Amino acid sequence: MTIRRILTVGEPSLRERSTELSKNQIRSPQTRRLVRDMFDTLAEAKGIGLAAPQIGEQVRMVLFDVPEDNGYTDEGEALARTICINPTITPLEGLEAGYWEGCLSVPGKRGYVERPQHIRLDFLDLAARPRSMEFNGFLATVCQHEIDHLDGVLYIDHIKDPDLLLPEDEYLKRVE
Ligand code: ZN
Repeated sequence: MTIRRILTVGEPSLRERSTELSKNQIRSPQTRRLVRDMFDTLAEAKGIGLAAPQIGEQVRMVLFDVPEDNGYTDEGEALARTICINPTITPLEGLEAGYWEGCLSVPGKRGYVERPQHIRLDFLDLAARPRSMEFNGFLATVCQHEIDHLDGVLYIDHIKDPDLLLPEDEYLKRVE
């Protein structure tokens, strides 16, 4: 079990564009090891998503682990233990909605971000097979947040009003 250090805002590599993985790279022992490290690191941090560049690996791979009882999605909606390689997002409708987002790389903060709420996610799985999934609402936001990391983008870049970035304790007071 290897828990990797999660980079935080201010570290330059979080702002770089990550590179795609070839099919051979996807099947390599190095990628297997990175996937295990991402699972271990996300579980330890109790997060719902982690992108490889957040642990200093500049490759286009994200891990989702959104449980059913996350408090945001309808009953039964989950995105459990899913690795997406070379993912791309296609918004399917113009409808946008906002959520208070947090990020393991921006500790102690929450910010309100509006994003397209119906998307298609295309990616390669760990066997390098093409996969396609559709998401609405909170899960659509989670997908866009994680995949932004692969282009060096953080959720704080999308906040339109500076008053909508709060210290976490202030955010918790508002939602209670
Ligand atoms: Zn993040």
